Amino acid sequence: MADDVVTMDKIVSLSKRRGFVLPSSEIYGGLGSSYDYGHYGVLLKNNVRAQWWRAMLQERDDVVALDSAIIQHPRTWEASGHLAGFTDPLVDCRTCKLRFRADKLEEAQCGRKPSVHPGETPECDLTEARDFNLMFETTVGPVKDEGSTVYLRPETAQGIFLNFRSYLQFSRKKPPFGIAQIGKSFRNEITTGNFIFRTREFEQMEMEYFVPPDQAERWFEHWLEQRINWYTMLGIRPDHLRLRAHDPEELSHYSRATSDVEYLFPMGWSELEGIANRGDFDLTQHAEFSGQKLEYVDTVTGERYVPHVIEPAAGADRAFLAFIVDAYDEDEIEGERRTVLRLHPLLAPVKVAVLPLVRKDGQPELAREIYRDLRERVQAEYDEGGAIGRRYRRQDEIGTPWAVTIDHQSLEDRTVTLRDRDSLGQERIAIGELGEELEQRLRQPWHSPKLGE
Ligand code: ATP
Repeated sequence: MADDVVTMDKIVSLSKRRGFVLPSSEIYGGLGSSYDYGHYGVLLKNNVRAQWWRAMLQERDDVVALDSAIIQHPRTWEASGHLAGFTDPLVDCRTCKLRFRADKLEEAQCGRKPSVHPGETPECDLTEARDFNLMFETTVGPVKDEGSTVYLRPETAQGIFLNFRSYLQFSRKKPPFGIAQIGKSFRNEITTGNFIFRTREFEQMEMEYFVPPDQAERWFEHWLEQRINWYTMLGIRPDHLRLRAHDPEELSHYSRATSDVEYLFPMGWSELEGIANRGDFDLTQHAEFSGQKLEYVDTVTGERYVPHVIEPAAGADRAFLAFIVDAYDEDEIEGERRTVLRLHPLLAPVKVAVLPLVRKDGQPELAREIYRDLRERVQAEYDEGGAIGRRYRRQDEIGTPWAVTIDHQSLEDRTVTLRDRDSLGQERIAIGELGEELEQRLRQPWHSPKLGE
């Protein structure tokens, strides 16, 4: 199977080589699992976000957008239960002095013998587990006193609940309707790892969907289906995606039902997104702590209720990782090994590369003219440096679905070749038709060529 070739090491090295994702603060030796997104990483992540917004806003009329503050009133986290309960069980090893997450020892390495897990050598001396709060604490204002403690949000969801009342007033929506937001969240994770899968600073794409209480189950099912479809429409192979329902003892304090969307990463099945039926927990809590009424009142019937909430909560970084992992492939062209990202064209950082065959005879001038035209429509890249085969390989590695090559014939009849990343097919096409052709191809449904026909 093609996916056998992918490993996390290959993804990390491709990401660094081509500037998708770089270790942060590298000149100072790096900082734990902090990462920076480089040029192609920014373009790809922007496309992931754009597709999420598209699915939430453009393709529906019952979801509206929000971008709330990262630092919110500290009472928020009392009401939400995070201050008291957003903890992971922590153990210390008295021998190697390292700290581990007690429920994830099988993912950690012993401090002295990395080939085994903590607790597996006779010298390992683990303490009892104790609760460790994952919220990052800081202070606001110039004086550090008791009232100045605030927290970096550990999820974007609470900003949505705090705005619920205002949205009822200005958005002209009534349940069922949703508020969606993308933004950074922060968790002081005890154990990070697997590249950008688990970091302390990450980005979430969350939507809170407010429904009449008796419709909660139906909408929960609706969002399970919608969210699975989103990943498969964007090219994730269905046999690498599954829904896993939480056992009752696994459920968060607020949740009535949760299912995770999981992807088969190189390290095994892992969570991409959690879809939860949060009941009326959040609005009720914030109503109690703020003293405000957080309910919906129907102006016609007079009916009033606290809506229940269905929440699809996805990670932008994890989705990014899944898309790259799923796209990663290696094959051979004319005896030469090639690395190729078979990304959905909508996600590909660059849609088209414009390449003059040689750097003379008027080809670069014509190529630049074509490039200037195409970049008005799609993200395009011009490259004239090096042998044409090497330039194709560079584009394949970043997942560019199409390449336009300008040759001597182009100057005679104003046609170029259009190369396809996956089929390697080359078609001759009139320069004047290129833009239309690319836009039309971008609109086509797409599935991974790894699935076969
Ligand atoms: P996990 O069990 O992996 O710690 P979680 O169940 O705590 O995740 P949620 O609180 O449901 O995660 O957050 C929703 C989504 O946010 C997750 O599905 C994931 O995609 C993303 N996410 C959560 N924590 C992290 C993290 N430390 N790094 C990157 N993404 C994260």
